[in-house]
Amino acid sequence: MMPGCVPWPPEVARRYREEGLWRGETLGDLLRRSAREHGDRTAVVAAAHGGSGPVRWSYRELDERADRLAAGLRASGVRPGDRVLVQLPNVPELVELCFALFRTGAAPVLALPPHRHDEITHLAAHTGAVAYVIPDRHQGFDHRELARRVRGAVPGLRRVIVCGEPEEFTPLDGLRAAPGDAEPGPAPEDVALFLLSGGTTGRSKLIPRTHDDYLCNIRLSAANARLGPGDVYLAALPIAHNYALGCPGVLGALHAGGTVVLPPTPSPDDAFPLIERERVTVTGLVPSLARLWTEAAAWSGHDLSSLRLVQVGGAAVGPELARAVGERLGRVQQSFGMAEGLLSQSPPDDPPDLLATTQGRPLSAADEVRVVDEEGRDVPAGQTGELLVRGPYTIRGYYRAEEHNAAAFTPDGFFRSGDLARITPTGHLVICGRVKDVINRGGDKVPADEVEEHLLAHPRVRAAAVVAAPDPYLGERTCAYVVPAGPAAEAPTQRAISDFMRERGVAAYKVPDRVEVVQALPLTPVGKIDKARLRVRAGAHRDGGEQA
Ligand code: AMP
Repeated sequence: MMPGCVPWPPEVARRYREEGLWRGETLGDLLRRSAREHGDRTAVVAAAHGGSGPVRWSYRELDERADRLAAGLRASGVRPGDRVLVQLPNVPELVELCFALFRTGAAPVLALPPHRHDEITHLAAHTGAVAYVIPDRHQGFDHRELARRVRGAVPGLRRVIVCGEPEEFTPLDGLRAAPGDAEPGPAPEDVALFLLSGGTTGRSKLIPRTHDDYLCNIRLSAANARLGPGDVYLAALPIAHNYALGCPGVLGALHAGGTVVLPPTPSPDDAFPLIERERVTVTGLVPSLARLWTEAAAWSGHDLSSLRLVQVGGAAVGPELARAVGERLGRVQQSFGMAEGLLSQSPPDDPPDLLATTQGRPLSAADEVRVVDEEGRDVPAGQTGELLVRGPYTIRGYYRAEEHNAAAFTPDGFFRSGDLARITPTGHLVICGRVKDVINRGGDKVPADEVEEHLLAHPRVRAAAVVAAPDPYLGERTCAYVVPAGPAAEAPTQRAISDFMRERGVAAYKVPDRVEVVQALPLTPVGKIDKARLRVRAGAHRDGGEQA
């Protein structure tokens, strides 16, 4: 494993290999195998959007493209072990690029499309990325402008590669080259990719996933969803996120010989016609999107009857929503997971009641799951506590984060998920809340302390606290309590805070949905900010607040 990563202990790794959980394959091999077995079948379909598409690539074509792009990346100086920061929306080139990097042995660092200067600069600097891959424009935003600023701030970033109109940068389209003699590929235990942590303190932590462990994740999830060559997976959510990438997501579909469909946006207007045309069988949604889809399905004239499995997860899913999805879209599968590893998904034969009321079961018998109290002691069976996990596809440490790892993992390697859960007698997980200070805004994770840090940087803010408020659509939204540095009349307005954060280059989904000016923040008896009280107050506020 590359320096800065925490490997599994050798005896544990040996056991995972002996048990066939790690099979010595790489993600590059996954595509090679599928191309051998399903060469002429369709691998990727995408409607035209931005600088991309329309596209209908067979497995053979995708395999060849990945080889040519890998050759081009090598020729441009990308080496095995390098990190390449990738920020692309759901375009087919993202799939091609990931496989090219897997084959080169360089690891993509998967940033999300809404990330801006603050997040991207941190990711580029922290990973020592050698290149940054962007779209030319996406949703009205010029990523080349962003790349110029990032390059100025991170001197090690040698190259910017653009999907679309490159201006002064390297065009992705010009990079592909004839593959030379076969070069040695990465080892299965090498880091294949970096995902971003959603649930943590401070800046996003980087999650190194190895070929061995991520393939285990993909295989188990694809098997649980019963994916086969006849399946068509629609990637409604960003592929850069673990859920749509490998749970089973795009990689699971390609592992099974199925087809991946990429809509320009996840809105019913874009997704439903593609579901009908491509006979989509499986997709994965966050609850807010699932709600929108179930409502739209009632009036849409599109034939959605090909959908045989609709995953819902990434944020709390209530039983009514789970039932509505089952009734109006297709059989529901609840999904609780984390980019750090553990995946709990409804087994294929679960009865309707368990489908509606639990978040499924951990995918592997080798997933070691504990539920503990505040002192770290196991709670009695069936009671609620913090979920700790260790297993064949759960990391043992974040990348270059020694200090944080000491708190985020137990000395014997369990990851402290920060989620509250209980385990039913049938072994199902029920997620009951969380102890980590993160707002789950419709599946987008907003770390409270990161937002508070930005608020405190405002010259007219003396103190600030950010909490979740319930939201009928998003599940949760962010509510910021701000104590002004001077007279209340001079306190920054919601608009001023929003402009301030955007100028600081923060992703829009982290900007507070509501800002309330207060004279002081409530404190607990030990003098900490009493967030529980603030949550009650935020929940009691019914007018919806000013929107950022
Ligand atoms: P991420 O790593 O971005 O996938 O975020 C993982 C976190 O999302 C988990 O630790 C949970 O806090 C939350 N999460 C994911 N799925 C669910 C779910 N089905 N119900 C409640 N929370 C969820």
